[in-house]
Amino acid sequence: MKILEARTRTAAIGRPVRNAAIGFEAMTASALALVTDRGTGYAFDSIGRYGKEGLLRERFIPRLLNSPLQGLADEKGLIDPDACVRAVMANEKPGGHGERPGAVGLIEAAAWDLRAKLLGVPLWKALAERYGTRNASPEIAAYATCGHWGDDTSLADEVRRALDAGYACIKIKIAGDLGADLPRIETARRLASRLAVDVNGALSRESAEKWLDALALFGLEWIEEPAPPLDFELLRKYSELSRTPLATGENLFSLDDARNLLRYGGLRPERDFVQVDPLLSYGVGEYVRILELFAAWDRRQFLPHAGHLFAAHCVAGLGLGMAEAAPDASLAYGGYWDGVRPAGGRLTIPDAPGVGFERKRQLFALLEDV
Ligand code: MG
Repeated sequence: MKILEARTRTAAIGRPVRNAAIGFEAMTASALALVTDRGTGYAFDSIGRYGKEGLLRERFIPRLLNSPLQGLADEKGLIDPDACVRAVMANEKPGGHGERPGAVGLIEAAAWDLRAKLLGVPLWKALAERYGTRNASPEIAAYATCGHWGDDTSLADEVRRALDAGYACIKIKIAGDLGADLPRIETARRLASRLAVDVNGALSRESAEKWLDALALFGLEWIEEPAPPLDFELLRKYSELSRTPLATGENLFSLDDARNLLRYGGLRPERDFVQVDPLLSYGVGEYVRILELFAAWDRRQFLPHAGHLFAAHCVAGLGLGMAEAAPDASLAYGGYWDGVRPAGGRLTIPDAPGVGFERKRQLFALLEDV
C-alpha cells in the first residue's frame, strides 16, 4: 500500500441558527480524502467545532506522508488506523489537547473507512472484529436533535417532522432559564413521549436547583451539559441535585479529560450518559481506551455526539447506546444513507463497504470535491 496524497478542504455548513451558547452562521467542517494506490478513504467532521484545515495541512498530513510506509500498514498490508495516529502524533507533547484531537480523529476515520473498504465490510463490522465487540449489530438506535433558535419553523413543527421521519427520542435545545424553557419543554413533551433537553452549559447557577426540580416533573430522558464542559465540581453538584439523568462529554476530547470527568464529575453509571465524540477525540482508538476506563459502565450509557454516518458505525460496532442525528435528511450531515429511514427510532446500516459515504449523495458530493 502506498499513500499517494491526503487532501483536505473546509466546507461551509453555516446556518442562521443558535443554541444556548453559540450561533452557527459561520460554522465550517473539514472533509478529508486519503488517496492510496489501493483506494481512497474519506472522513467528514462532526458538526459544531469548525474545520481543522490548518492543523491538517501544516502538521498532521505532512507527518503522515513522511512516515515510512511499511509503518502504516499491518501484517496483511492493510492500512492500520492506530499506526496512522502514532505517526501523526510524533513529537506532540501530552496534555493540552485543544483542537488537535479533531484533526487526528479525521485522519484515523479516513484510515478506518479505507481499511474497511479493503476488507470488503461495512465499518461497524471491521470495528467489531478489531475490538471484539460481542453485541455488535448493524441495527442501531438513533435520536433526533431539534429546536435550535432561529429556524423559520416552530418548535412543534420541527419535533413533528422528526417524529414523522421515524425518530422516537427527540432532543431539543433549551436556554437554562425556567421562563423560557418551560413552554418549549411542554410543547415538545406533548408530541414526543421520549424527550431530552440540551442546555449547552448555559444553566444559571443561582436558579439551578429550582430549574432541576421543575424539569424533574417531565420525565425527561436526560439533561445535557447542565454545567460548563470542564467544570466538574459544578457538574457533581448538579448530579446530586438532579432527579433527571444527566449527559455530558461532547466537549471533552481525550482520555485525560474523560478521566477527570469520571473522577470528579459525580456521574452515576446506572443513570447518566457520556457523549464523547470519537471523531473529535483522536478517533476510535482513544475512544475505546475511554470505554475501557469506564469499565464499570454499561456501554449503552455511551451516546456519541454528532458524527453522523461515522458515529452510527461506532454505535453499531462498539455496542453503544444511541447515535445522534440531525433529522433533516436534505442536509449533507443530516439523516442517514440514501434510502435508509429510521422506524421507531431504529435503523439498519446498509451493507456498503467502509462508512458508505458513497451512499449519501449530498455528503459524497462534498467529499468527491476534495
Ligand atoms: Mg449537545
